[in-house]
Amino acid sequence: MKNIVLLGATGSIGKSCLSVIRQNKEHFHLFGIGFGSNLDKAQEIVQEFNPDHIFVAQSQSDKSHSFWKTHSNTLSNEDELQGLIQDPKVDIVISAISGFAGLKASYFAIEAGKTILLANKESIVAAGDILMPLADTKDSEIIPVDSEHNALYQCLPRERNLNEISKILITASGGPFREKSLIDLKGVSLEDALKHPTWSMGAKITIDSATLVNKCLELIEAHYLFNIPESQIEIIVHPQSIIHSMITFIDGSTIAQMSNPSMEVPISNALGMGTRLPINFQQIDFSKLNLSFQPVANDREIIFDMAREVCNRKGNLGVIFNASNEIAVDAFINKNIDFIDIYKVIQRTFDYFSCSKVSTIDEIFEYDKEARIQAEKVIKSLH
Ligand code: NDP
Ligand code: MG
Repeated sequence: MKNIVLLGATGSIGKSCLSVIRQNKEHFHLFGIGFGSNLDKAQEIVQEFNPDHIFVAQSQSDKSHSFWKTHSNTLSNEDELQGLIQDPKVDIVISAISGFAGLKASYFAIEAGKTILLANKESIVAAGDILMPLADTKDSEIIPVDSEHNALYQCLPRERNLNEISKILITASGGPFREKSLIDLKGVSLEDALKHPTWSMGAKITIDSATLVNKCLELIEAHYLFNIPESQIEIIVHPQSIIHSMITFIDGSTIAQMSNPSMEVPISNALGMGTRLPINFQQIDFSKLNLSFQPVANDREIIFDMAREVCNRKGNLGVIFNASNEIAVDAFINKNIDFIDIYKVIQRTFDYFSCSKVSTIDEIFEYDKEARIQAEKVIKSLH
């Protein structure tokens, strides 16, 4: 029986994780959950899974909710969260809080030498220079949950001989605006941006998919997780989201991982840690498959150029890229800026900073703060 701490339990990834755990109860015990403010959802999870520990990040003031009457032993500050993650009984930490807010949890898990199932790509983008060497030192295994990276993880031979890789191909659905040119995106509504053609996900990542910034984050994530130069990583648009990514080896063979789009597939693979866990899934009907591929549109390349620069120069560039995007997406969701302005906010914030080396996690938090302030200034300048 493996003890799991699921952080981001009330979210979209949290829901898929709980489904896989529910289908494999004999192997997993939900030792702890963490979430932000959705007390109703948390209440349901607690009733069904009865976790030993509950971490609530944001709802301290809402003490009238029945949740607080029934669960008096909840944890609510960062030290307590760290204590929970460090508990020797914990085997697996699932990092599925959304955005930069998930970095602390990823950091605590890696620092504690735990096996971490990583959904929170923002952790690696912002702090790859700190987290990857730390994982080596602390012998913490990072297993990717993001569908593309889990696909790559499955395609890689066990011995991981990176010299045998010719290139990595990360697939992209292209999001809801795949057919539109950049100028046509002026004035698109929040509702349209939230309509993802193939995946159902939380709001922030859905907007990232519409801008294609999600693919930029994934490019950086792949670069760090697999230690592959960006020049060997290609993004290819594949609207059906059946092939989740591929590796071409130096002998000309390409290995792809396929499934119908469901996050339960990569999650069960990651939780299985080498064994295949049974889950209910929808079989691919190969006789009806019609797979297509196309390059990323030229007018979106500018955003990928920044992501490639992050991979090549590293340091503070990842945290700046991520923070400016989070501020821009937030402003778009709150209807403060146009969809197309998301690119301007990222580009102008990114260009404002020069590249500096980072050596501590505190510096990452500092740069995050500075980049957010700068991104807000850019937003003001747009009005
Ligand atoms: P959601 O918005 O659906 O869920 C986010 C979760 O994080 C919720 O449980 C939320 O709690 C919690 N949360 C938010 N802020 C905090 C905080 N400060 N402290 C503690 N908990 C917090 O997001 P997703 O599930 O879609 O995404 C989660 C992560 O997984 C992201 O990093 C995303 O990029 C990544 N990912 C998601 C995929 C998907 O299919 N959804 C695919 C691949 C990667 P509450 O709601 O209670 O406030
Ligand atoms: Mg993905």
